[in-house]
This record gives sequence, C-alpha cells and structure tokens, in this order.
Amino acid sequence: EEANYEKESPYISSILPGWFSEISSLWPGEAHSLKVEKILFQGKSDYQNVMVFQSSTYGKVLILDGVIQLTERDECAYQEMITHLPLCSIPNPRKVLVIGGGDGGVLREVSRHSSVEQIDICEIDKMVIDVSKQFFPNVAIGYEDPRVKLHVGDGVAFLKNIPEGTYDAVIVDSSDPIGPAQELFEKPFFESVARALRPGGVVCTQAESIWLHMHIIEDIVGNCRQIFKGSVNYAWTTVPTYPSGVIGFMVCSTEGPAVDFKNPINPIDADDSHTKTRGPLKFYNSEIHSASFCLPSFPKRVIESK
Ligand code: SAM
Repeated sequence: EEANYEKESPYISSILPGWFSEISSLWPGEAHSLKVEKILFQGKSDYQNVMVFQSSTYGKVLILDGVIQLTERDECAYQEMITHLPLCSIPNPRKVLVIGGGDGGVLREVSRHSSVEQIDICEIDKMVIDVSKQFFPNVAIGYEDPRVKLHVGDGVAFLKNIPEGTYDAVIVDSSDPIGPAQELFEKPFFESVARALRPGGVVCTQAESIWLHMHIIEDIVGNCRQIFKGSVNYAWTTVPTYPSGVIGFMVCSTEGPAVDFKNPINPIDADDSHTKTRGPLKFYNSEIHSASFCLPSFPKRVIESK
C-alpha cells in the first residue's frame, strides 16, 4: 500500500501544492520553494525529521527538519569550499576530523588530498548516513575511502575524549543552530576544537548567511577571536538552494606556524588522482579560494570590529 506522503508532510506548501517550501523561524517572512516530482523517503530519527525528494530542477534533495541540507545540483559548491578552504591552506594535512557531514560529501572532498592518512567523522544521526548511502551515491561515495573511520555520536562529546593536538584540520559541517547542532555554535565547543588541533592547525565551520544571520555570525566571530590565536577569518560562497543563496564559513587557525588563508599554498587544482572515482572538482579553484575572503562592506565592518 502506497503512503500518501504529500498529505502527511507538514513541509509541503498548501499555497503551492506539490512544491516544497522551506519555512523556518531562522528566516522569517521568506521561503524558498522547489517543485517536487516525487517524495522518495520520509522518516523520523531520534534527532530529526528526515526527507528525500526528487525535485524537477535540482536533482534529489535532502531535507532535515524542513531545512534543505543538499541538492545533487549544487552540493559541490558547499562541500568543496568547506573542505578545501582549510585543507589547501596548510602543507600536507595528515589527520582530519569531520563533525556532522553525515551525507559523506565532505569525506569525498577530504579524500582528494593524498597527504591525508586518517579521516575521522562524527555524525550524530545514523539515519542521515543510511539515507545518503541509499539515495545520494555520488555524495556518500566519501565513505568508501579506507582512511575514513565513522563514529556515530554527538560531536561535542566526541571531542571531549580526543587527546590535545591530535588533528591538523577540523571541519564542522553542521546543520543550523536549532536542534541537535545548537551546541556546535557555542563557545565551549570551539574551545574543544582548538584543544584538539595541533599548533597551527585549522578549523572551518559552517557559519550561516550574511543576509540573514549577522547576529549569529557576530557571536561566532567574537568567540573565535578569543579562542583561535592564529587567525580568524570569514569566507563565503554561493549555494542557490541555501536560504538567501549564500553560505559562510569561519576559517581559523590555532597559535603556531602562521596560516595565511587568503593565499592557498597546497593547491588541489592539479591533483587528479581521485578524479576517476569522484569526478573533477566542479566549483573550487585557487582563485575562488582567495576571492571568498573578500567581504561586502556591511559584514566586513561587523566582522573586523569584533
Ligand atoms: N553536507 C551538507 C550540505 O551539503 O549542505 C550539510 C549539512 S550535514 C547533512 C549536517 C549534519 O550535522 C546532519 O547530518 C546532522 O545530523 C549533523 N549534526 C547535527 N548536530 C550534530 C552533533 N551535535 N554532532 C554531530 N553531528 C551533528
């Protein structure tokens, strides 16, 4: 018997029947909509509501608690930038930790770096991993790399048990700060990230939109300036299906060998050892890396004054 997902889903707009509308208190008064061809999965995990649908113009779409996490068409922009901004800024990254990122896309990108020996991932929700493996094989392919070690659990708790100075890079691929990811935006979490990094180690975290969340960004920047004594930077890029069409990243380093994030020294552009299985980079290159740190005047003022 076929489930009537359209009727059951609270995220299917009654204003635009057959369309998904991304309604959230994080962006009041606006809601990006995508036309739904078919709902492929709907479930409720211990942490969140999980949904996958086939859209008419962005391929398959992964939704958590009514919020778009990725689409097949534009996930490259996010996954490539959040990964290569930190990893292309330091020589020979060897140990990398991913927090969140259960879809596997960041793992796919980390594994393009041949210097990397160990890739740990701590994702809280096993359903996200399973659903991604079932519906997004070109994203979940990241799990196939033998260097990947998966830990299913809370990233905050995981970091508490990590010896000081373990990682060259930590990538925090989190959902928004409502729900299970809330603590991933708070000061104690950033403190434990800094502790887990070696001197001159780097972190890149999902840091919301300059158009919608300057107050959140301001807090994150303030916290990071107190904690990361190497450097603290904000970068941004376009992802058409994220609210307001842009997403930012906090890119910081700990005290130690200096990291000049604006001038990447470990280019991946020419490295094609992984392109056979993963395809070539679609979005990232060294020019866009440097350009992503150029800010419009209004966020630049706020970020520099913190
Ligand atoms: N990679 C996606 C993209 O392309 O946009 C971004 C979002 S990713 C699916 C965010 C993940 O963070 C989710 O799978 C969520 O379950 C996970 N997460 C949220 N809170 C977490 C926590 N406290 N510890 C570990 N993972 C967490």
